[in-house]
Amino acid sequence: MNPFETPIEYLKGVGASRAEVLKKELEIYTFDDLLRHFPYKYIDRTKFYKVRNIDAELPYVQVIARITRKEIVGEKRTRRLVVQAQDDTGLIELVWFQGVSWFDKNLQTGKAYIIFGKPTVFNGKPQMSHPEMELYTTETRQRKGNMTLQPAYNSTEKLKQFTLDSKGIQKLTAALLEQHSKDIHENIPSYIIEKYRLMGRQEAFKNIHFPDDTGKLNQALHRLKFEEFFFLQFKLLKNKLHRTQKFKGNIFETVGPYFNEFYHHKLPFGLTNAQKRVLKEIRIDTQRPIQMNRLLQGDVGSGKTVVALMSMLIAIDNGFQTCMMAPTEILANQHFQTIKSLVGDNFVEVALLTGSTKKKDRKILHERLLSGDLKILIGTHALIEDAVQYKNLGFVVIDEQHRFGVEQRAKLWRKNTVPPHVLVMTATPIPRTLAMTLYGDLDVSVIDELPAGRKPIQTVHFYESQRLRMFGLMREEIARGRQVYVVYPLIQESEKLDLKDLEQGAEVMRHEFPLPKYQLSVVHGKIPAADKEFEMQRFIKGETHIMVATTVIEVGVNVPNASVMIIENAERFGLSQLHQLRGRVGRGAEQSFCILMSGNKLSYDGRVRLETMVRTNNGFEISEIDLQLRGPGNIEGTQQSGVLDLKVANIATDQELLVEVRKCVEEIFSNDAGLAAPENEILRRDTISRSEGLTWDKIS
Ligand code: ADP
Ligand code: MG
Repeated sequence: MNPFETPIEYLKGVGASRAEVLKKELEIYTFDDLLRHFPYKYIDRTKFYKVRNIDAELPYVQVIARITRKEIVGEKRTRRLVVQAQDDTGLIELVWFQGVSWFDKNLQTGKAYIIFGKPTVFNGKPQMSHPEMELYTTETRQRKGNMTLQPAYNSTEKLKQFTLDSKGIQKLTAALLEQHSKDIHENIPSYIIEKYRLMGRQEAFKNIHFPDDTGKLNQALHRLKFEEFFFLQFKLLKNKLHRTQKFKGNIFETVGPYFNEFYHHKLPFGLTNAQKRVLKEIRIDTQRPIQMNRLLQGDVGSGKTVVALMSMLIAIDNGFQTCMMAPTEILANQHFQTIKSLVGDNFVEVALLTGSTKKKDRKILHERLLSGDLKILIGTHALIEDAVQYKNLGFVVIDEQHRFGVEQRAKLWRKNTVPPHVLVMTATPIPRTLAMTLYGDLDVSVIDELPAGRKPIQTVHFYESQRLRMFGLMREEIARGRQVYVVYPLIQESEKLDLKDLEQGAEVMRHEFPLPKYQLSVVHGKIPAADKEFEMQRFIKGETHIMVATTVIEVGVNVPNASVMIIENAERFGLSQLHQLRGRVGRGAEQSFCILMSGNKLSYDGRVRLETMVRTNNGFEISEIDLQLRGPGNIEGTQQSGVLDLKVANIATDQELLVEVRKCVEEIFSNDAGLAAPENEILRRDTISRSEGLTWDKIS
């Protein structure tokens, strides 16, 4: 057995009752858990202060001072030991409320001590209560030169009752390392250690707890971060390899008449370079006998749908059927309309299947699917119901990644004996490093270019005092025949947050934009679905001028005639949501606007968010800043990804390292896919235990 799996109670100095609190308070169950309970900071013990320079603002400090006086004062609960110590600059008072007699007996007047503690100032005089005391002798004088960083560990009140404060935990960790350092084995091949100049594993664990100096600490951190990223990527790339080895894919031999006819005669515009590049990537994938799993990232309006359609046409050219799945009925409907108008009449059969498809139509649809006549099926998750059977499904497009679970996707795979190629499209750009981890076993394509001639949306930030200007801009745009969104963060006013209530806002709008000249739609979560749908349709058809809504309109709705997006209390929204909302306009040829309304008081983060929105339209840039502001834990989709299990590495702040590690692991697999080389022996063993229970349902 690996000694680090030993239950924590068996560590010398722990025992049953302390083990109990360690488990309860810190989830430390084993030696290994303790080993990985890393310090949250280090106290610099290389520096010595002079008494004169001490002030209450300082964290823990140490001074060298000679005890000049000591005295026990007070009675019972106020009984305490008060000690005066002095260096050549001044006098400091030290106080003990506990262990009074012990300290009185052991501290020696006239002797110099290294005194370490958190200073306070009382009556203009520096003080410390319960400092650590170490006699300053010739020996300590020599050691003084290499006194170092002292670890500080998270602890709790409960733990402190069991003398497991930071210091107590430090003692346990020291004991663990002393007894078991030799059992910490290297887990990364030595040629990698050398190539990347990594600190050895044993030394790294020692130094993260008890650094010899800052240089060593940084090396230890680097090594442990590398290791965390390494095994995360190792797992992902191993899964990918496993999948590509195990699951054959349909080979699309040719690009035939469907694609060519569309490309040369139907496509109403030239493709952007980014679209061409992505099409090539997909083309290459589908010529290999390996199932494609590709994530297509691109900002709203970057033209993902056309790329998806053209890929589907290649599949059809090779005798396969295709389908496209969207998360909501509205979106499915829109895709259906878009694709139908792109392909035109008498070209290829396209159908729509959603929850509201009539039973009779559904039956016909099923038959046409089975016969193979129906080439393109667009719909919601109704597509994955068991009753939906295809003759030969070869290519699947999934829009809006986040909304579908892995299970649902896997169901689509099983619709054919050879699983179809899968293209997942998302309009929520995420940083490259996050994609590497979240979708680390998918291939990623990026459309990072908008079609030419598009006018970038102009974004402005208005304070409440500029509201009249906002109304003016609305009037101008409506007079031009355009439509306006007004979005609120909440429906019901929460007094505490002092948010603008949507109803109240709608009232103001009605007053400002009265009937019959202006028509207003109001949509929010508390309105019955049918009414909501009705109002949405009125807006889509252009019958209403202003749509006052909560974030229900966030995803996918396409109203090219809408040219103004007003976001109320914009400081309350996250960056990616602001960006998504803004993406609802700028879909036509005309200039569009986004107005961010906010109160005068902004938090630092709020200000950065609004400034970022005003500065850039680039979703990838925005996602980077979002990650920096919020950290990976608050980004959608990270929960199951493993990034939150990282203890030292951080995908927001250690991006360069992650890219380096990813490359390193890719190289390992491309040089030695089976990990058969002797130098990869360590990883082979690791693989065996890690690949257990792996099934293709679990792979994304
Ligand atoms: P996405 O799904 O990425 O948000 P769409 O595929 O819906 O974007 O495209 C947005 C709009 O841009 C559509 O009206 C589409 O027809 C148009 N479009 C796509 N590609 C181009 C291009 N290369 N040139 C001009 N317009 C394009
Ligand atoms: Mg789209």
